[in-house]
Amino acid sequence: MNEQNNTSLFPKGEKLPGEWFSGNAFLHPLLARDKNNDFALGSVTFEPGARTHWHIHPKGQILIITEGEGLYQEKGKPAQRIHRGDVINIPENVEHWHGATAHSKMIHIAVTNYQGDTNVTWLSPVTNEAFSEANK
Ligand code: MN
Repeated sequence: MNEQNNTSLFPKGEKLPGEWFSGNAFLHPLLARDKNNDFALGSVTFEPGARTHWHIHPKGQILIITEGEGLYQEKGKPAQRIHRGDVINIPENVEHWHGATAHSKMIHIAVTNYQGDTNVTWLSPVTNEAFSEANK
């Protein structure tokens, strides 16, 4: 079966590393930072159960959900369901994670702003227990 179905806006891209992601997550880069745009732009596909590790962005991040259903959680708050068409504005220096639900894939475009040469700091994995709780 072709990995890109008829409704996916962009190709799936390359698998993201296990040191920063749990499960099967993929990145299709759209634009690199340039002299006018101080952010990286990419389409990220999370297969069911896949998610980022906890992390922070020093200048924040915008997620535009283009397909499926997923989860977004800020540290100390309940996880929220996110769906195709949602736009999530993540503040600077807020610890969070995002990904698919246990049973549905999710694709988002990520706009990730830079501070200096950094746009993300990776922290610990989202444990299976925390992910299970977020899916309730
Ligand atoms: Mn993020």
